[in-house]
Amino acid sequence: MPETTVKSFAEQIGVAPDKLLQQLVAAGIAGKKSGDPLSDDEKMALLNFLRTHHGAGEPEAKRITLTQKSTSKIMQNSRFGQSRAVQVEVRKKRTFVKRPAPGEPEAPPAEVEEAIVESAAEPEAPPVTVTPPEPTEAAPVEAVAEEPVAETPVSEPVPAPVAEPPAAKEPPQNRTVRKDTRPERGRNERRERPAARPSGGDRKPQKGRPGGPPSRGASGAKRVVTSMSGQHAFEMPTERVVRDVYLPEAITVAELAQQMSIKAVEVIKVLMQLGMMVTINQVLDRETATIVVEELGHVAHEARSHDPEAALKVGDHEEGAREPRPPVVTVMGHVDHGKTSLLDYIRKTKVASGEAGGITQHIGAYHVEMPKGMLTFLDTPGHEAFTAMRARGAKVTDIVILVVAADDGVMPQTVEAIHHAREAGVPIVVAVNKIDKPQADMERVKQELVTHEVVPEEWGGSDIFVPVSAKTGQGIEDLLDAVLLQAELLELTAVRHAMATGIVIEARLDKGRGPVATILVQEGTLRKGDVILAGRESGRVRAMTDEIGRLIKEAGPSIPVEVQGLSGVPNAGDEVSGVENERKAREIALFRQGKYKDVKLQRQQASKLSNMFQQMQDGDVKTLTLIVKADVQGSVEALTEALEKLSTDEVKVRVVHGMVGGISESDVNLAVASNAIIIGFNVRADGGARRLIDSEGVDIHYYNVIYDAVNEVKAAMAGMLKPQFREDVVGSAEIREVFRTSKAGTVAGCQVSEGVIRRGRQARVLRDNVVIYDGEVESLRRFRDDVSEVKAGMECGLTLKNYSDIRAGDQVEVYERVEVARTL
Ligand code: GDP
Repeated sequence: MPETTVKSFAEQIGVAPDKLLQQLVAAGIAGKKSGDPLSDDEKMALLNFLRTHHGAGEPEAKRITLTQKSTSKIMQNSRFGQSRAVQVEVRKKRTFVKRPAPGEPEAPPAEVEEAIVESAAEPEAPPVTVTPPEPTEAAPVEAVAEEPVAETPVSEPVPAPVAEPPAAKEPPQNRTVRKDTRPERGRNERRERPAARPSGGDRKPQKGRPGGPPSRGASGAKRVVTSMSGQHAFEMPTERVVRDVYLPEAITVAELAQQMSIKAVEVIKVLMQLGMMVTINQVLDRETATIVVEELGHVAHEARSHDPEAALKVGDHEEGAREPRPPVVTVMGHVDHGKTSLLDYIRKTKVASGEAGGITQHIGAYHVEMPKGMLTFLDTPGHEAFTAMRARGAKVTDIVILVVAADDGVMPQTVEAIHHAREAGVPIVVAVNKIDKPQADMERVKQELVTHEVVPEEWGGSDIFVPVSAKTGQGIEDLLDAVLLQAELLELTAVRHAMATGIVIEARLDKGRGPVATILVQEGTLRKGDVILAGRESGRVRAMTDEIGRLIKEAGPSIPVEVQGLSGVPNAGDEVSGVENERKAREIALFRQGKYKDVKLQRQQASKLSNMFQQMQDGDVKTLTLIVKADVQGSVEALTEALEKLSTDEVKVRVVHGMVGGISESDVNLAVASNAIIIGFNVRADGGARRLIDSEGVDIHYYNVIYDAVNEVKAAMAGMLKPQFREDVVGSAEIREVFRTSKAGTVAGCQVSEGVIRRGRQARVLRDNVVIYDGEVESLRRFRDDVSEVKAGMECGLTLKNYSDIRAGDQVEVYERVEVARTL
């Protein structure tokens, strides 16, 4: 595709280039000229800006999706015998409007007859007089067949927003549609409510549904004006049939047409009018399909035909068919407290490895059978994996075993684990480990945990504490029994006899076997030979093995299995579902591959401080969730208290996680999982966290004055955010060596790791991601020369203004403050 310039984009969206330039400036993209290229990101930024700006005043909720468009010409024969070139737009995505559901006037039953005749011409009626009930179908249909189909494409080179002219009449193929809509079709049809049409027999000047989509034009979608061609068509007096069309997440044009019992070309035509050129095999998403269905006067429903849940509801598996299922357990706790040892011990002693010489394999999860029931363990301990999974929207864990070493007590990661489990609403069973050690002190662990609101039963709480030793095995049985007891309280159930759904626990590319994925079945039964969809991959289950490498034929709820046969390697946390056929699975997978970007963008908008007020007004936000990371405990407490105090009757401010230390990946994952905003107080995000922040679009705010932090959150809640300054990191360098010279003072010998280091710019020094200095790069040298900047990969020597307390290993971060336009 050729590069998009401001000018060409302006043409595409139908605004004057000057206007577009103004809008770009308003959206924070300044300095463009009309010939300049426009990147996708900039387009997105512009659209987002326009959306937030127009959104408020519009009566109808609109959705705009970025359109990728290419224009081509096709030759077409006009009815006058000349051939001419027609511009055809191919749009990859589309512009949507949300239809107003209510407001369709109910017509009195007396008008039924008339309405039916009327509706036979709907929704794409040419302005012809309706011949009264006419038994012969053949004539008009034939007339249609003779009509050149090629007339349907755009007849004008698509001018900017054309209000739907009365001339925008459908070509007459729809007569064939009517022919096809035989009343004996399927159970899902019913007679049209006459109410859906205005009473009175006159032609409506406009096509489309009454009270139709006025905003479609306004939303920037260009109308495709079809040529006048229906003059000699006759109305079919067939009784109009309204179908209930069940739409899966993705559907091809052909299938959609089939569902409505019409020809694919009809669907293509409707889409054309929405400004979208599609082929018969193209996959549409549910929203687009819904518009088509409604446009054709039918009723769309979310069918989720690929979704086993839908099958469950429609099928004979009622609620009663739910059976108890084993709990899925994650082990968390501070480093070296014995998580791995505990998991290993249980795997070694409890996994039935007796038969077939099986040796336990690491597939990411295993299940054990106890006299009292079965349990499944996720084999990756720690809250990082747990929260990363949650951040992807996967709820896998039912119970957390919190391992606390009896000789060490509660440590920072113990507290983090508690926060992460609590935030996820997952109950904790405490394993007080290393009880075999002489220094073991069960009471101390209990007391320390109480301060974090994990309270043993004997002290009036509801948390179970079990003393164990992962070394000797002491107490392990009791621990497993306690977990099963806790599981009983949760009343975990699943349907067994249904198509499977589950979650990818881990996946990799195996040299011999291709993509292999460990899937935890959550509902239904996964069988060898099943067609599955795993995130953006699909395939047929070619082979299935359990945790001891045995080939198995089926796996029920809470059972982890390793499967082969997927088209590619899915991501951990991806949803898995059985699909009725392979083609459908492939379609949805393909579709998801395309859609992924959109979804991410939506999510990025979800939790921004600057969107707060709007969302509050929309009634979307009831709780403002924050994560507070600070350099010292005092600041964590002061900030948490001050921020939570901002709670009002409408909005509750809640700090779900407050800790000392730099911002880590698991903090970011927690923010994603709980839609939280991160407040960094004198601390920074480490490299991994920064990448995740960028890719996930997490909102993060750095402060060094508590008052500022509190004020800004308060302002966001009141919708009064001032223009904000964002700090962009220009470059960072690691201090390798420190030299003290009499002339220059303390010189930091650095290796520039990212971006550029510039002299005279603002800079901070970070030690373990905690800010220890904020000032300026005073001098910068490369070898013996003074330089103004040094790029990544190079070494340099630098001094900081009025600061000498630096050490090897510290990070120097050069940043600049950029004003960001508020979107409120
Ligand atoms: P993780 O970092 O939490 O996974 O901890 P590990 O399982 O790697 O254990 C850390 C250390 O503690 C290892 O040297 C283990 O051998 C030891 N350890 C774990 N559990 C016990 C226990 O119950 N008793 C004793 N004495 N040592 C243990």
